[in-house]
Amino acid sequence: MSQPQAALSVDFEFFTHLPAYRGARGVTDRPAVGLGGVTSLLDAFADADASGTFFTVGEMADDHPRVVERIAVEGHEVASHTHTHQHLSELDSSERRDELARSKERLTAVAGEPVTGFRAPSFDLGPDHFRTLADLGYEYDSSVVPCRSIPGWYGGEFDAERPTPASAVDPTAPDDFVEVPTAVMERLRLPLTGTWIRFFGVTYTILGMRLLARRGIAPVLYVHPWELVDLPAVEGVPKRVYVRTGAYMRRAVRRILAEPFEFVTVGELAETVDGAGPASAGRSDRS
Ligand SMILES: [Zn+2]
Repeated sequence: MSQPQAALSVDFEFFTHLPAYRGARGVTDRPAVGLGGVTSLLDAFADADASGTFFTVGEMADDHPRVVERIAVEGHEVASHTHTHQHLSELDSSERRDELARSKERLTAVAGEPVTGFRAPSFDLGPDHFRTLADLGYEYDSSVVPCRSIPGWYGGEFDAERPTPASAVDPTAPDDFVEVPTAVMERLRLPLTGTWIRFFGVTYTILGMRLLARRGIAPVLYVHPWELVDLPAVEGVPKRVYVRTGAYMRRAVRRILAEPFEFVTVGELAETVDGAGPASAGRSDRS
């Protein structure tokens, strides 16, 4: 039997793009905090003969084009994580469109392949999210987390667990637009990765992956390059940002990639949704 599929995605931003850093009192003068994490991730993917999706802040195409190029050349998918990593719900509609359009255009130019996927910073969706993405030529979104409500943070809005026509999560979404939700732990309903891998440990993540696979769901995980490096101490950045960053996460990524899954891109998972529209929408989700 072939191995179940999973996707290890990367939200490629720097430490200084984090809302938690932007809102802090202190500053760092270290440039590009997290760039080394991209190298660690690319090496880990190559050693595991795996591919992934890098949801990349569009500014990287201007400031670090060779890194974006390398991601594409090594067989990974380059997708958008906005141009400057602002929360979409805090922007007006023309600013929002600009974040989505500019990043797509710049990343496509540098990666040499059309960018069709998108993930919102902090999973924060603006109004008309799916329609705007479709208008601009995107084909799928991966900003839905079907987790419990985490007060002051996110969650509690969605329950879709597998790739689905986006109209199943938002009736105003165009018929052929696809949503690929990120993975949460069965019953506990907290994300398998992000901060949670560092809080609960990588065995929590791996258990969650196996439970999803048992139900025929391909786990979609996400990590950040800045989680794989040692971070500068900055006054006012919450402690949770620092928990187990650096060596722990470099090992964790390798442990995940050693699991008996076929690691594919999020775009490949999006393509498993066929005949998008009302007929297939009812088939999705909730076990
Ligand atoms: Zn982000």
